[in-house]
Amino acid sequence: MIIAIDGPAGAGKSTIAKLLAQKLGFLYIDTGAMYRALALKAIESGIDIKDAVSVVKMAAASDVDLVNNPGGGALEVFLDGRDVSQEIRQPRVSRVVSDVAKIKEVRQILVKLQRRLGSQKDSVLDGRDIGTIVFPGADKKFYIDAQFDERVMRRYKELTGLGQAVTLEEVKNDLCNRDTIDSTREHSPLKRADDAIYIDTTKMTIDEEVETLLQWIKR
Ligand code: C5P
Repeated sequence: MIIAIDGPAGAGKSTIAKLLAQKLGFLYIDTGAMYRALALKAIESGIDIKDAVSVVKMAAASDVDLVNNPGGGALEVFLDGRDVSQEIRQPRVSRVVSDVAKIKEVRQILVKLQRRLGSQKDSVLDGRDIGTIVFPGADKKFYIDAQFDERVMRRYKELTGLGQAVTLEEVKNDLCNRDTIDSTREHSPLKRADDAIYIDTTKMTIDEEVETLLQWIKR
């Protein structure tokens, strides 16, 4: 079974997807983490993000892997065998990830990996194009949204909770910038699939969100 969860940045997709996967005993595939891992590598390698040819070459020679820990532990993200789970959340990665993700060939490489992982086991995937491109035949599709100010506040709390010294203004700019690039890019833009269930989580608690999705899945 494949459960697809799409939506804009900061809507709470990954929190819900992870809890849902735990409850159902499914694999959790954080596709945003994969784009982030490649963005981190480009930064570390000194590659100009605007130089698509070099970014694609780098992506093709990279090994990105996700490891689900039993018992609900944090998802681990590996880049060429190195655990980069923390580093990929840094603002320097958030700033450029959407420019990496808009490159068609980068998407082709990661979509192939996402499909391979998802076809091995029942999975919950979250991202921007899961219900439209990666698994258009997913058993259940959700589009998770929340009002912009609420998304900014959630992301701000999440990042400061991780010990990052970010300001509300920086988080606001980051979400606005990524949403614009993600929804207007030429290849696989962020879009609600026609058959996706739309859920506005602005006024919902995390428990309510998970419960709502579970109810839809059981139907
Ligand atoms: O999910 P997260 O916010 O960590 O994703 C980081 C970025 O990766 C997004 O802003 C988007 O540019 C890209 N992404 C994507 N397609 C996906 C998942 C993420 O383009 N399926």
